[in-house]
Amino acid sequence: MGKVRIYELSKQTGIPSKQLLEEFCKLGVELKSHASCVDEETVALFMQLAKEGKKPVAKPAAGHPVEAVEPPVENKPQGATAVLPATTCIKLSETITVKELAEKLEYKSSVVIKKLMEMGHLVSINQLLNVDIAVALAKGFGIEAQVVSLEEEIPLEEAVDDPEAVPRPPVVTIMGHVDHGKTLLLDAIRQTNVADGESGGITQHIGAYKVKLDKGEVVFLDTPGHAAFTSMRARGAQVTDVVVLVVAADDGVMPQTIEAINHARAANVPILVAVNKIDKPEANPDKVRQELTKYDLISEDWGGQTIFAEVSAKQKIGLDTLLDMLLLEAEMLELKANPNKLARGVIIEAELDKGRGPVATVLVQSGTLRVGDPFVCGICSGRVRALFNDRGNRIKEALPSTPVEVLGLSGVPLAGDTFVVVADERRAHQIAETRQQKEREQTLAGTTRITLEDLHHQIKHGEIKELKVIIKADVQGSIEAVTDALEKLSTTEVKITSIHGSVGGITESDVMLASASNAIVIGFNVRPEPKTIQLAEREKVDINLYTVIYQLVAEVRAAMEGLLEPDYKEVSIGRVEVRQVFSVSRIGKIAGCYVTEGKVNRGDTCRLVRDSVVTYEGNIASLRRFKEDVKEITVGYECGIILENFQDIKQGDTIEVYTQEEIARQLKIND
Ligand code: GDP
Repeated sequence: MGKVRIYELSKQTGIPSKQLLEEFCKLGVELKSHASCVDEETVALFMQLAKEGKKPVAKPAAGHPVEAVEPPVENKPQGATAVLPATTCIKLSETITVKELAEKLEYKSSVVIKKLMEMGHLVSINQLLNVDIAVALAKGFGIEAQVVSLEEEIPLEEAVDDPEAVPRPPVVTIMGHVDHGKTLLLDAIRQTNVADGESGGITQHIGAYKVKLDKGEVVFLDTPGHAAFTSMRARGAQVTDVVVLVVAADDGVMPQTIEAINHARAANVPILVAVNKIDKPEANPDKVRQELTKYDLISEDWGGQTIFAEVSAKQKIGLDTLLDMLLLEAEMLELKANPNKLARGVIIEAELDKGRGPVATVLVQSGTLRVGDPFVCGICSGRVRALFNDRGNRIKEALPSTPVEVLGLSGVPLAGDTFVVVADERRAHQIAETRQQKEREQTLAGTTRITLEDLHHQIKHGEIKELKVIIKADVQGSIEAVTDALEKLSTTEVKITSIHGSVGGITESDVMLASASNAIVIGFNVRPEPKTIQLAEREKVDINLYTVIYQLVAEVRAAMEGLLEPDYKEVSIGRVEVRQVFSVSRIGKIAGCYVTEGKVNRGDTCRLVRDSVVTYEGNIASLRRFKEDVKEITVGYECGIILENFQDIKQGDTIEVYTQEEIARQLKIND
């Protein structure tokens, strides 16, 4: 492709060189001087835009002085970058050699090497480059480079249009209320369907197993419950194709049944209902059907779309029908994958084994995984040293929808990390290294999640169109009232949707659901446990606690309008456990306490929490140690506490001691 120098172009067009340099910069082509070259395609585009009287409008290359006059985000014309010629915006893989980069930039390798030397990097033609250096180098040539991750380069969705894709078994997660029979159902299916003669028919616990039937195969994830399901999703991995919702026929729909429905819906995974324990005399499967209609799960024989299977995990009744139904559902979903390419999968579980080193269970999602394949897996890399199936047998290769234990990892990855086979080990290693470095940087910078404080900003910049909330409250009535009030606040700009609501304290599972769905958590008259708070901090999930509905609604509305300026922030001082309660005549109830965190002072503001529900808010009226009035008790000591105007104190209660810290800013709320 031919190139033109700016001063030549200036002569041809009569436009001063300085103006040309500025205009090209707006096109994303950063040029140093009037002696710099521009390729003909860019010139042609520029000329065309000039002829049409349009100003070239592309994102200027970062770092250039023009950046200062870049229009604010909302004024930017949509699809601005679309006018860029292909050569001025290129895509780079997470790892690239000098030679490949030169080809992408359409410059000779020697020119690229020289430029790299000027930047202080002495490299050879086949050397792998760090992506940051590659991006900086491209910028030096006036070319904007975008880095695409390995996962983006090889998207999973391809399978749909892939002519080589063939049907693959469905991957199933079993969810439902505690004690409704999830574990027993998994075990029953495993026991009755293990192929005879294979290692004595005993399956290994590797986090998932495959069931072989005459008509096909089904893969079950071994960790029942929605916690594992959602924490995988929080890492960006959608592994499950179908959720089997277990509901005990003698118990009906319970809180965790609803929670499971909401988790599955948030992930857009179809639900198949298994009505369990039908062997029990008090079993009433129709009652379950009836109750589930409230949640839009209407069985086919009642005119709905949901498949219901009646089973008994204990007596192994109806299991074959359940499996048949799963195969039917899978057929309808047209699940496919191409086995003829490099494998890609997800980590189901991983651990450090004393003898074998890091071991991970990978669910192969597409391609075929073979011994000897080099791979990248989150921030780890390696080469497959050995593969074991769910029966503990050594195998040479694993097809799509196969769970396998993999040996040969450089470290222990996280459940939910993607596992991608690449062509050569050197690249795998380099990508893992770059990711480790990026992760370190990100931990330092922190990630952005939706918060009430930042809501207005995000709405304004079009970053969110929907505010998802999880509502936890002390009683069912409050959930309905809060949901109603919040959903009414929806505007054309942002819709408020409650993705889950239930009675009780804020749990780790709520935080994981919020993290996976980018939602905020609202607690009404309830509190989170300390370990939930820690998880929320780690996952950067915004938890908002209220005791008055009016205040809650006013705050969310203010947040939407950008008027939220809370002037106080709660700072925890200490936590106290009530271990015994004494009644003393004339004084009343004295709580014999133990300080588990921080400290407590006489007169401090506090709240009494019972089973995660706030039962009292007020002050510490009296603080004693061995009958002596004291001002302060610190962590690890026992003390006696009397709460101001409150007698209903009970053993097992928790007292949270806190203070309100003023945040320096103007108060703007004017309701
Ligand atoms: P999970 O908490 O959902 O995993 O429930 P489990 O699988 O641990 O089962 C809870 C209890 O219900 C156990 O005592 C099981 O023996 C019992 N159970 C599970 N399935 C059945 C069933 O089909 N019939 C009867 N009668 N009991 C069952």
